[in-house]
Amino acid sequence: MGSHASYRFLDLAGSPREVGEVLGRLSPPFRRPPWWPPAPDREFAEACRRLVGRWHPSLLEEYEGYAAAQGLDPASLWQQVCRTSLRARSFACSAVAWRDREGRMWIGRNYDFMPIQRIRDLVRLRPPEGFASIGMMGSVPGGRYDGVNEAGLFVSLHAVMADEPPPRPGIPFHLIPRILLERCRSAEEAVEALLRMPHILPLNFLVADPRCGYAVEVHPMAVAVRELQGDVLAVTNHYEHHRTRPLQGRRDLRFSMRRKERLERWIEAGGGEPRERLREALSDHEAPLCGHRPGFTTLWSAIAALHGRSIEYAFGPPCRTPFCSFPWPGDPSPHG
Ligand SMILES: [Zn+2]
Repeated sequence: MGSHASYRFLDLAGSPREVGEVLGRLSPPFRRPPWWPPAPDREFAEACRRLVGRWHPSLLEEYEGYAAAQGLDPASLWQQVCRTSLRARSFACSAVAWRDREGRMWIGRNYDFMPIQRIRDLVRLRPPEGFASIGMMGSVPGGRYDGVNEAGLFVSLHAVMADEPPPRPGIPFHLIPRILLERCRSAEEAVEALLRMPHILPLNFLVADPRCGYAVEVHPMAVAVRELQGDVLAVTNHYEHHRTRPLQGRRDLRFSMRRKERLERWIEAGGGEPRERLREALSDHEAPLCGHRPGFTTLWSAIAALHGRSIEYAFGPPCRTPFCSFPWPGDPSPHG
């Protein structure tokens, strides 16, 4: 599989319906990813749809546009994107928020998965209401795995291996970062939203803005928040808070813990220019943070300077893929 052929940069604006139609036209026919568990029944999906309608109704209009462009039944499309289990064998994604000596907030992030994930779109979006954002969309239309908004809020999503109680309706997990990016001005607002939102699956989030950063450990039974301690806060794929930790049972968390420690230590100990320090940390092959195995491939990497309104993505493992700068969300696009 050619690893570069599947990355795209989409710069979109317009009504939610128009954006959905454009995405639907530009995307291959929607297929439920083969590694997903079966879709929930219609009643469950409809309950999730009502919840999303309460949190971010424009997303539902976008889905209608997407379904129309692809000739799909909107209810059936929606049912397909409501994922009720991670069925996690192994997951890896690492991110760090770091306040440097000058008090500037930096972000480093690797998204790791299997190369089978074919949709890897960087979407820059200016909606008519809510904040403009830029971030990565994967298998789920309209979803985001990470990104930053025009107010300087960064969000990343991390799967967690933990007990999964019988599913209750909530916000489908790919849509959570998208909702936070479009509706929250600050990391505090994002934390508050994550505490109130109904969750279906075990997840970690890193949320940060130019002033502060938090790790939010989300589980359908409990949500816990860790703050930036000192100047570095790393998030991988396990819970650390005493309230969420027991929900992981006796799973082997060593790989996730190793990545978190390595990332924190590298940033704390390293010298030199901040951006380069982050790039080197994300390229580490010892923990490793940078994945080159079939079940653990770093599909993209991001470095952001939240204070300086800059965002760069590498469309591949950061050790050998150049980072490219993209226009800050909400700023005039060089493409017009
Ligand atoms: Zn590498």
